Amino acid sequence: MLVQSEFFSEADGEPVAVDNAAGRGGVLLVCEHASRRLPERYGDLGLSKDALASHIAWDPGALAVSRLMSKSLDATLIHQRFSRLLYDCNRPPDSPAAMRDVSEIFRIPGNENLSEAEKSRRTTALYLPFHGRIREEIAARRARGLQTVLVTIHSFTPVYFGKERPVEIGVLHDTDSRLADRMLQAASDTHLYRVERNEPYGPADGVTHTLEVHALPAGLLNVMIEIRNDLITDETGQGVVADFLTGLLRESLADIQR
Ligand SMILES: [Zn+2]
Repeated sequence: MLVQSEFFSEADGEPVAVDNAAGRGGVLLVCEHASRRLPERYGDLGLSKDALASHIAWDPGALAVSRLMSKSLDATLIHQRFSRLLYDCNRPPDSPAAMRDVSEIFRIPGNENLSEAEKSRRTTALYLPFHGRIREEIAARRARGLQTVLVTIHSFTPVYFGKERPVEIGVLHDTDSRLADRMLQAASDTHLYRVERNEPYGPADGVTHTLEVHALPAGLLNVMIEIRNDLITDETGQGVVADFLTGLLRESLADIQR
């Protein structure tokens, strides 16, 4: 068993953070790609400064939007404090995408030829505590008689492999589309954003892992949101998107519970 202190230095801190732990709202927010931080012992993985700041390391703006939604919905927010470059917490350990050595157009030298021991070290240090914390939170809420609606917040790059992506907000779901259907319905007359179902990714791309693990088996209402990251580069944009999503969620949940 890995001792966490061998992986993280004191300055690194803990892998999982929880905001508004006492939140009383029905929504539980999760942000798997909130951070581009790397633990000190990993240096820069052989990447340039630009690559380390880019979408391959994190979902720019996603944590800021999640925090605003956590306030407006009085929702607990669980977020990962380290970069997906080391371990992508929205992928299971057996997925080749959990610890990639190539992401879009970037080679990640520090992830090439990882030993089984190193993969297991990262899984134990980053993936297990993160999903363990979500599991505990849902169980604790159930014990308090609180329902949980699981909402994960992501952002995506406007240009991928040189191709522009016209979609601005993606509403993603796996086999349970109850909440996504209502949100898409509620968004159908908006002129604010181009909102689409299962874009720019969908379940076939393996992106619904957190929903699959925590929401589907328990029958919890759930959705994954993807925001084009050029819309949320500053506080104004983040505020407008957060308000828009909060409104969609409120309206859709009220509709389902009616
Ligand atoms: Zn993401």
